[in-house]
Amino acid sequence: MSLHKTVTPENLIRQELLALHAYHVPTSDGMVKLDAMENPYPLPAALREQIAQAVAGAEINRYPDAAARQLKADIRKVVALPSGMEVLLGNGSDEIIQLLALAVAKPDAVLLSVEPSFVMYKMIATFVGMRYVGVPLTRDFSLDLPAMLDTITRERPALVFLAYPNNPTGNLFDAAAIKQIIAATPGLVVVDEAYYAFAKDSFIPQLGQYDNLLVMRTFSKLGMAGLRLGFLAGPTAWLEQLEKLRLPYNVGVLPQVVAASLLTHHDVLLAQAEKIKLERSRLLAALGGIAGVCAYSSEANFILFRVAQATQVFEGLKQRGVLIKNLNGGHPALTDCLRVTVGTPEENGRFIAALQDTINQLA
Ligand SMILES: *Cc1c(COP(=O)(O)O)cnc(C)c1O
Repeated sequence: MSLHKTVTPENLIRQELLALHAYHVPTSDGMVKLDAMENPYPLPAALREQIAQAVAGAEINRYPDAAARQLKADIRKVVALPSGMEVLLGNGSDEIIQLLALAVAKPDAVLLSVEPSFVMYKMIATFVGMRYVGVPLTRDFSLDLPAMLDTITRERPALVFLAYPNNPTGNLFDAAAIKQIIAATPGLVVVDEAYYAFAKDSFIPQLGQYDNLLVMRTFSKLGMAGLRLGFLAGPTAWLEQLEKLRLPYNVGVLPQVVAASLLTHHDVLLAQAEKIKLERSRLLAALGGIAGVCAYSSEANFILFRVAQATQVFEGLKQRGVLIKNLNGGHPALTDCLRVTVGTPEENGRFIAALQDTINQLA
């Protein structure tokens, strides 16, 4: 007989992890995929060819350049970082959120964000054992500045995340309010600019104006979701500490080579983003033309909208081959809310037709 007690996940894994639901990614085979804020446009053939050649020449028998010098230099060029600011690369910006949280997760440390916002902030706080505090947005999804300042005074957060534009609401928060929050926070404030390419404003020019401001971006929403590449920009004093936590080869040879290639054609991606912005206004107008749909204006590549019987509408769209995101039943502020990614004109047309059809049938 073994002296071993039975080892099970239930008696070994941390209780807070057992209680979590895994981040669910639905299958989308053969569907019009408008659920994940991807860029719908393929790359021009000439650029694909250039990437193929760069990949053919990549030394995949070697570990990647741990410092990713070429890629970082390319990023600095396209982003126009203020002087004295450093860059840290992540395997997607999700990895950077985790790295930041790990770095400050002292006992009782608080991670603060707003609600509703990007769900990974709360999940990652749980992963690393931080206490999560979410301050509700106002009814129109703006920052509730008095509530934020009160909570900051009471909770003394080590880390604050503000998505700018916010996901899933699509709006930009008031920049002056964010500045007050940065000034009042005793910890780091990370402005998450995942949707910068579709928005009118950025906090990159503010870097260096505050000791505790960092700006995080990802290339996922711009057309490189499959590469997994995000970065954090900010003062060297912070980033050199965070570098210690970064696993040395977190960005592989192929993502480094392909992203460097793509960033030399940043203009191609930005031109696609401009097309998406044009489509966004057409899609918003089309949603506004459907009785019973209330759509929120957006500075991102998706649109949040409210409709009666949202879950049935979501299922009706799915039956008609269109996959979007159902937010109903999650946060109370998102009751009857759905989120659609801006696709190609053709995809958006199919979505609008399917939506109209579904609503007619439910009525
Ligand atoms: C999509 C998203 C991210 C994560 O992007 P990665 O693909 O992990 O780089 C981060 N923040 C917000 C607000 C997002 O919507």
